[in-house]
Amino acid sequence: MAKNEGEAVLRAENLKIHYKTKKSYVKAVDGIDLTLRKGETIGIVGESGCGKSTFGQGILKLLPQKTKYYGKLLVRDVDVTPLRENDMRKVRGKVVGMIFQDPMTSLNPITKVEKLFYETLEEHNPGISFNESREVTAQILQKVGIEPRRMREYPFQFSGGMRQRVMIALALVLNPDIIVADEPTTSLDVIVQAQILNLLDELRQSYNASIILITHDLGVVAEMADRIAVMYAGHIVEQNEKEKIYYEPKHPYTKLLLKSIPNTNPKDLELTFIPGSPPSLVNPPIGCRFASRCPYKMSICDEKEPPVVEIDGGMVKCWLYTQGSDNQ
Ligand code: SF4
Repeated sequence: MAKNEGEAVLRAENLKIHYKTKKSYVKAVDGIDLTLRKGETIGIVGESGCGKSTFGQGILKLLPQKTKYYGKLLVRDVDVTPLRENDMRKVRGKVVGMIFQDPMTSLNPITKVEKLFYETLEEHNPGISFNESREVTAQILQKVGIEPRRMREYPFQFSGGMRQRVMIALALVLNPDIIVADEPTTSLDVIVQAQILNLLDELRQSYNASIILITHDLGVVAEMADRIAVMYAGHIVEQNEKEKIYYEPKHPYTKLLLKSIPNTNPKDLELTFIPGSPPSLVNPPIGCRFASRCPYKMSICDEKEPPVVEIDGGMVKCWLYTQGSDNQ
């Protein structure tokens, strides 16, 4: 069965996540649709501030209290947008596990690893003894390549790569259906980065989990993702299978993003960059949010928000692909 035909474990339907500031709201995620299927990895890519981490943390509702959610975010068919903190605690860890960017700040450095696991296991299995928890911890640490005896150590005694392994083990210990990995390898060198990505992929297969992989690094998603969603200024502007995104990108932003990756081809050594910067998400433009930086801009682009067009098995949000446009 093709991955895009499998059971949906997460669905965002016109999802909006708006942060409260002193005077207004920042529309960090502003109407996205996305389906994650069982066993699938979706890479969410885009520049800093495009809304990708807000989306990831929004799945677990780890955002400031006054954040507003609109639309639907179905996690295993349960809309989490109206859920309160008490109900979300049942979702976190058990249904959705999270791997953060910097394990040194996410793992309490003065709590021994065995206690970190005990706290997580106890939250969902009240009454579990410390010894039982240690047995489970030993098994999962072994799976991620850490000697079980090291559970008696503190996070600060581990190297960066080993700490990230601890974080992955913690995210997996309750066997969640979905793992959200937010820039999981950003603070690691390239060799450790490759080891962590391989480990994550192996574990995904053995647990049959699904992964939302959030990164600004197109190399990381090339390694692991089945599908890619490109975010820009709170919108998903293009979404398709990984190969289609890399070899036949449609949206002007995706094209420019791919051109800005350094490569070793002697005929194409010139590094390009995308001039300008993304718009304010407090008062985003009424038309296309990429218009001020887009080399293909047309008059309609400033006047009306581009529609979502289904194309080539994926979607693109751009006026170039509407019927009658001859600019494709
Ligand atoms: Fe460029 Fe217009 Fe497409 Fe926006 S809608 S990306 S401005 S062509």
